[in-house]
Amino acid sequence: MDKKTLIIANWKCNPLTRKEAEHLLKVINGGIKLTKDIEVVICPPYIYLSGFNLKTLNFILGAQDCHWEQKGAFTGEVSPLMLKDLGCQYVIVGHSERRRYFGETDEIINKKIKAALKARLKPIFCLGEETKDTFDSEGKQLNEMNLIVQEQLEKAVAGISSNRINDVIIVYEPVWAISSNNGVSCSSDEAMQARLFIKKILSKLYSRRLAEEIKILYGGSVTAKNSSDYIKKAGMNGLLVGGASLNASEFIRIVKGVYEISPRF
Ligand code: PEP
Repeated sequence: MDKKTLIIANWKCNPLTRKEAEHLLKVINGGIKLTKDIEVVICPPYIYLSGFNLKTLNFILGAQDCHWEQKGAFTGEVSPLMLKDLGCQYVIVGHSERRRYFGETDEIINKKIKAALKARLKPIFCLGEETKDTFDSEGKQLNEMNLIVQEQLEKAVAGISSNRINDVIIVYEPVWAISSNNGVSCSSDEAMQARLFIKKILSKLYSRRLAEEIKILYGGSVTAKNSSDYIKKAGMNGLLVGGASLNASEFIRIVKGVYEISPRF
C-alpha cells in the first residue's frame, strides 16, 4: 500500500499571468524535494498545465476539474484523457466551489470520479458540510456533518469497485472552514472526528482493510502554523491547501513542516 503523505496545492483561479505562474512554480520547485514518503501535487488552472519538463519537477501535476466524458461535442470542457496526456496524475473533483457556483451535483461528481479513474488519474474527491454542526435547544447535536458527509460519500463512490476505490483520495473540507479569514477554523479534533466517521462509512461500503488504505486528507485554511496538527493530531494522510499555496514561502514551510514530522525522515 502506498503510504505517502500527500500535500496538494489548489491554486483555484490564480495567478493572472503565465509569468507569475511560472515564477511560483519555479520557487516552489526549488524549495521542496522529491521523497518517497511525501508527494507534493500542484493543481494550477488548466492553462498553466502544459510545457513542463516533468523530469525536472519535484512535484506532481494535477488539475482542478475534468469532464465526465472522455471526448466529444462538449464545448469548453477538458477531458481527463487530455490531462493524462499533459502528465497530470491527479484531478480535484467535487470541490465545494464547483458545487456552489457551477451546480455540480453528487451524480455529476460520481461520473467525474469514474471518468478520472478510467483515464488512470487519481481523483481528489472533496466533501464536507456547508455550516458547522448545529445543536438543538437541549444541546443535542443534530449531526449535520455526519448526514451530509455520509450522503456525499455514498453517492460519489456509487458503482466504484473495491479494486479501484483506493485510487480515490478523499478530502474532508468543511466549507465553513475554507478560506477562513474571520478566524473560524476546524480544530484537529473536529478533523479527526470527521476522518473516523468517513472511515466508518468506507468500512461499511467496502471493507475494514480498504477503509484503512484509502487516503483521507484535510482541507480548509491550512497554514504553516496548523498544518502539522492535522497530520499528527488528526491523523490525516495529507492536506489540501488553497490560499496558502499561492505564497511560495508559506507553502514550502507547510511542506517542510510535514517532512519534519514524517517518521521516515
Ligand atoms: C480549497 O478551497 O481547496 C482550500 C483548501 O482553500 P483554503 O486553503 O484557502 O481554505
